[in-house]
Amino acid sequence: MPTYRTRSESETIALGERLARALPAKRTVLLIGNLGAGKTTLAKGIVNGLGAADPEEVASPTFTLIHEYGNGGVYHIDLYRLEELREVATLGLDEILDRDAVVLIEWGERFPQILPRERTEIRIRALANDEREIAVTETEMSKVDE
Ligand code: ADP
Ligand code: MG
Repeated sequence: MPTYRTRSESETIALGERLARALPAKRTVLLIGNLGAGKTTLAKGIVNGLGAADPEEVASPTFTLIHEYGNGGVYHIDLYRLEELREVATLGLDEILDRDAVVLIEWGERFPQILPRERTEIRIRALANDEREIAVTETEMSKVDE
């Protein structure tokens, strides 16, 4: 599993820009990590790397829940404030996940029922000081299918 280390917010944004290049046009990407780990920061880099918006234009969707960039090419979603599957169902996420778009989701691992099996999972862990460990995994379809 590719694992990276960054030492500042700007390094994490730069890593997001690099990771964006490896993403297909349609992909669900879970950003996993504690509050303040750097999920939104990495999302800024990914959104910018996909050419959908500048990092400064990317704000946390904590209250708005869903942000759209680049004419629907990228979505950034934060499910932190939702507690029940019933609330998630009202967001119309299944429809968004079906689109030809990169869909970045913070706190999405709390609702595995709604997630496509084939997805990218990025785990961010705070180390000492401003250091972060960032690990990328792709879930495989082949083993679970048929
Ligand atoms: P999350 O979305 O996971 O709650 P944010 O990206 O909103 O986290 O916030 C991360 C915070 O940590 C920011 O205040 C950022 O400046 C700080 N930070 C310090 N070092 C790093 C780093 N290496 N990568 C990302 N963020 C960092
Ligand atoms: Mg966040």
